[in-house]
Amino acid sequence: MSFRFLVLLLGVSAVALTVASESPAAEVSAARMSERIDALSRFGANPEGGVSRVAYSEADIAGREYIQSLMREAGLDVRVDTAGNLIGRREGSDPSLPAIMFGSHIDSVPGGGNYDGDVGVIGAIEVIEVLEDKGVTTRHPLEVVSFTDEEGGLVGSVAMALGLEDSHLDDASHSGLTVREGIRTVGGDPERLDEARREPGELAAFIELHIEQGAILAEAGIDIGVVEGIVGIHWWDVVIEGFANHAGTTPMNRRRDAMLSAAELTLEINRIATSMSGRQVATVGRIRAEPGAPNVIPGRVVMSLEIRDLSTEKIMQVFKAVEAAAAQIVEKRDTPIRFEPTGVASVPAPTDERMRRIIAAAADGLDLSYKVMPSGAGHDAQDITHIAPTGMIFVPSKGGISHSPKEYTSPEDMANGARVLLETVLAIDGGALE
Ligand SMILES: [Zn+2]
Repeated sequence: MSFRFLVLLLGVSAVALTVASESPAAEVSAARMSERIDALSRFGANPEGGVSRVAYSEADIAGREYIQSLMREAGLDVRVDTAGNLIGRREGSDPSLPAIMFGSHIDSVPGGGNYDGDVGVIGAIEVIEVLEDKGVTTRHPLEVVSFTDEEGGLVGSVAMALGLEDSHLDDASHSGLTVREGIRTVGGDPERLDEARREPGELAAFIELHIEQGAILAEAGIDIGVVEGIVGIHWWDVVIEGFANHAGTTPMNRRRDAMLSAAELTLEINRIATSMSGRQVATVGRIRAEPGAPNVIPGRVVMSLEIRDLSTEKIMQVFKAVEAAAAQIVEKRDTPIRFEPTGVASVPAPTDERMRRIIAAAADGLDLSYKVMPSGAGHDAQDITHIAPTGMIFVPSKGGISHSPKEYTSPEDMANGARVLLETVLAIDGGALE
């Protein structure tokens, strides 16, 4: 009897049976995942207890070798695509079906932690281990992926879904090598990047398990985050013109102080983002006063404005309100304010609605609590939304700390994520997307 058939039987007749005790998800091992996270953490270990395993470094290469060995032990067919993505494949019973892909990345930021990305790759391999142990053959082929250089601009997933801009290949990576040299170092071929492309329809689905990197789940004691999408990020320089003058001889009522306008506008930006309904965030993170001396009234201030939300319209709505507030400040203080767009760091990438429902149902079936939430950080999944139905599963980050050696997710939380991932893969394989 196939596993799927068994689940079907359980589904229709289950009165006393709990899915959790019969499902292969019960076989997910928190201890094995934890051991492997520890083993991976030795590659690029830093004195603070985290890792500095930047893409293309010796530590990255050693970590990738470790992941390849785990993939092979789990019975996967391993290859490196031309963008340097590590892909382990397990054939399904129906060769006409597209693959279900899942995974994340193992490169870190300089001075990073042991969980960002790693949990998704170790969790994906755990899913394969359990299917092997239980002798489950899926209909769809399965592909476990560890994307190249996530922290340097989602290099591997951009190459797979959208194509890398040639100009980006000459950018320096954290390792000191250019992206082009780096891709070659990890076994890719920057001259044949087109071969790493996957077309829409080529993948049945993509799922990324990842730590939340924020404190929402941990603080609320919720097991699983069902990610609605990855937020868009818009940046501006705000230029405020005042009049630089002597700080001793200019009376208080005769000043055109650009810093005062900047301070007022900063408070307004916070008030606007807080007072609107929704989960938009707006930040002034950098400020520079000119000429920048203790005894000179600031004649000019340049500060940054960043707005993030799941919808571009909402981002622009916040921005319009900020512009209106700025106009009032200009009137009051006679300090012209200019907004110069400096870029769209990312466009909003909603996950597939069906995938959210499947992930939520998987959590429910395992008696895990969940919350539907946006991702404020960027992920490889945002690129794959362009070519495949994509879903993301978050697990709690202790204290909301990430990109730090203090990053921590408990073995049980990691295992819960892998359990939901496994159930999600099986549901999709069983036709939940059809
Ligand atoms: Zn990550």
